[in-house]
Order: sequence, then structure tokens, then C-alpha cells
Amino acid sequence: MTKLKNPAQLAGIKRSCELLSRLFAEFPARIRPGVTPKVLDSFARTFIEKAGGKPSFLGYGGFPASLCVSPNEVVIHGIPDGRPLKEGDIVGLDCGIILDGYYSDAAITFPVGAISDEAQRLMRITKECLDRALAAVKPGARIHDVSRAVFSHALAHGYGVVRQYCGHAVGFDVHEDPQVPNYVGGGPNPRIVPGMVLAIEPMINLGTGDVKVLEDDWTVVTLDRRISAHYEHTIAVNHDGSVEILTSWADPT
Ligand code: MG
Ligand code: MG
Repeated sequence: MTKLKNPAQLAGIKRSCELLSRLFAEFPARIRPGVTPKVLDSFARTFIEKAGGKPSFLGYGGFPASLCVSPNEVVIHGIPDGRPLKEGDIVGLDCGIILDGYYSDAAITFPVGAISDEAQRLMRITKECLDRALAAVKPGARIHDVSRAVFSHALAHGYGVVRQYCGHAVGFDVHEDPQVPNYVGGGPNPRIVPGMVLAIEPMINLGTGDVKVLEDDWTVVTLDRRISAHYEHTIAVNHDGSVEILTSWADPT
């Protein structure tokens, strides 16, 4: 069931998103060849806790870190480890915060040093998928309008769309209903109404959309081991009908 947010609750979620945006503003200077995912994770945890928040992913379903760090063929849910990032990698960072009980969620894919044209293009088109999806959020539209915006743009460029994982409502918990798929299929297709807060997150693969989960039960990789990109914003439909993107990060594409 969709839990709509009243104006006071929306204000709380916005504050959580503002803190998350301040964290994301710290990442560009820290993403470089040689940095390890573990270092990025501990930076994120310290930053969030110092600001009075809690990392929402830490311990969620047993996830062992505050930040998901997903290089190259890792689609999402990468567990931060000690292997340094290297020139030419792309790396997805996904993070969520609980501030005063309110949840935020955002993700970005960064280039590590100089990357291939192929990787650059995948990142750019995935970011465009997110932009188109955000533009489809308006009162009276339906969730599948958002899904279609992602799916049609990715397909037009010959990319694979991940179907097993999707966007979601957010604000009172890490994941809430409704789901926001990145493809058009069956499933619930509610109308978008004031008070909804959605985390929209296209996951787009260079090859096919097929994925698998590794032995650690978390890391989601492409089945063909080609690269994948992921961008996410939290967006609110206000009670005056306006639509507001609550998270921010510097566009690396
Ligand atoms: Mg996320
Ligand atoms: Mg999310």
C-alpha cells in the first residue's frame, strides 16, 4: 500500500535528502584511481553520523556497509572491499540516510580517470533515462509512464534494461510501495498523486539486461559481465501539485 506523506513529513524527507546531497557533493574529489571502496564507505558513514543521521543501508537485510560501491559489471549492491579502483573503471555509488526518522536515497555512476567512449556513452544515456523518468512524474500520470520513459530510451540505444530490481517509494522506510520498474510489464500501475515520494533508479547494461547475484548474496552483476550504469534521485509530488527533485549530485556525464 502506498503511504502518502503530509507536508510536515515531506519537509522531513527533504532535510534527509539535503544531507544526502551534501554527502554526494564530497564524492567527486574522492573518486580517483587507487581509492578503495572501503575508504569511500567509511568516509560516508562518518559524514552521515557526524551530521546526526544514520546510514539506512547499514544492517538493512544484513547489508554490511553504509554505501553500495558497484564497479564495472556490478549493477548494484556492491559490498565495499579493499580492491583499489583503477583508471578506466566506472563505479556506482548508492547511499541512503535516515535523518529524524526520514529516509532518502540516491545513486550515481562515476568515471575513474579516463574511460572508454563506450562507457561514457552508457553513462550519458543512463543519466538521460533518469532525466526522462523524472520528467514523467506528475500528478495524474501513472507509474508505468515513468517506467516507459526509461525503457524506451534505453532500448532505442540498444542497451539492456535490468528488470529484477527497480525504483520504489521512499521516505518512511528504505523501500516502500509502489515499485517503479524500469520496463513496462505487468504489475501495479497506480496513479501518481500529491504526497508520493519516489526513488527512481534506472539500471542500464551495455549488453543484455540479465543479471545474477554472487555468492555473497548481495552483489548483483551482469550475466555477460559487461558494464552497467545506475543513477537515482528521490523526487516528491508536493501538495500544490508541483514536483521537486529532492536529491542532487554533480552530473558526471
Ligand atoms: Mg539507492
Ligand atoms: Mg533506491
